[in-house]
Amino acid sequence: MADETSLAKGILERVGTGNATLHHTAAQVGFDKDVDVPDHTAGMKLILETLVDGEAGVIKSVDEIVGVGHRVVHGGEELTRSSLIDEELIAVIRRNADLAPLHNPPNLAGIEAARRAMPNVSHVAVFDTAFLSTLPPKAYRYAVPERWHAEHHVRRYGFHGTSHRYVTLATAKLLGKAPDEVNLITAHLGNGCSMTAVSAGKAVDHSMGMTPLAGLMMGTRSGDIDPAVALYMISRGLSAQEVDEALNKKSGLLGVSGLGNDMRDLLVAADDGNERARLAVDMFVYRIVKYIGAYHAVVPDLDAVVLTGGIGENSRPVRRGICEGLAGLGVVGDEDRNQATIRGKTGPITADDSPLGVWVVPTNEELMIARDAQAIIAGSAV
Ligand code: ADP
Repeated sequence: MADETSLAKGILERVGTGNATLHHTAAQVGFDKDVDVPDHTAGMKLILETLVDGEAGVIKSVDEIVGVGHRVVHGGEELTRSSLIDEELIAVIRRNADLAPLHNPPNLAGIEAARRAMPNVSHVAVFDTAFLSTLPPKAYRYAVPERWHAEHHVRRYGFHGTSHRYVTLATAKLLGKAPDEVNLITAHLGNGCSMTAVSAGKAVDHSMGMTPLAGLMMGTRSGDIDPAVALYMISRGLSAQEVDEALNKKSGLLGVSGLGNDMRDLLVAADDGNERARLAVDMFVYRIVKYIGAYHAVVPDLDAVVLTGGIGENSRPVRRGICEGLAGLGVVGDEDRNQATIRGKTGPITADDSPLGVWVVPTNEELMIARDAQAIIAGSAV
């Protein structure tokens, strides 16, 4: 961590499906291979074996690992900062599983497997909701019966907080501002998309809601719609589960284009004259521009708009569309900068005399998690 070098990077996916794959990259090696991983315990064992392997490995012994940072999707209302994992914390994460039924139980399985494999090191949980816990009630409450909040915890929580926090800190540094002085709109545009209004370094509004379904249009999620649409479709014969599935997995870029959820494919199709793909891209950009306008009203003294995530970091046509859409706010795009700032590069994509700068700042959630884990293990607050 002294120079924050990443030694190795990997993904183990489809654990327990009979169809698991391990992706691993280190300085001299990189591979993807099918593996037999029935559960998280076997998965953790395989990951540790890979890290100490003579060829693919980057450490000599598992004993070199002093801490493990875990991304946990939902901290609920109680867990608002990264924390050392103990039995009590696990119980709270388990209690919050109702709020994130798809995410918290697998997170816990991963934590427990890692604690079993490495019982003598510190484990730290970093919550995706934590950075958004500073939203004021007027931003996080929904205008629904008060009991829904008091008894059922219905409110906006927000997600992608680790990414929004990382780019907020990174942009403050780039602009020469103290972290608690910077005013930004940060947009994470990946498969999931979200936007945060940041005032004096703290999140004051955010586009995702009680679940990640709200806000911007995404790869397969609808983003904002009239909630009555769901009830109407149920009255037309769909089950609640089918509506849930349609809004989360069959909507967004995929739903509108009918082609897929990958922005690259849609841009190619749109250029070839596919009207549904063109509409999907236009809707995607329009929704972003609209949210930036709203958040600019909330944070008038903006230092910059920041784009990150796979689309924000790479998609030049989408970024050009965003700059053009913001012309009403005085934004002047710089197409040479837009063309040049891809694949991990950082910088503005607006002209030097643009009254509001739009910046591309690649995110690094893993590094944020590692920094928090290190700080907490050293006994500092984060
Ligand atoms: P996730 O949210 O799953 O982490 P990413 O942040 O990797 O996803 O973002 C995935 C999205 O980024 C996809 O829509 C993909 O098309 C888009 N993307 C990645 N590279 C490019 C590129 N060079 N041009 C346009 N879009 C890109």
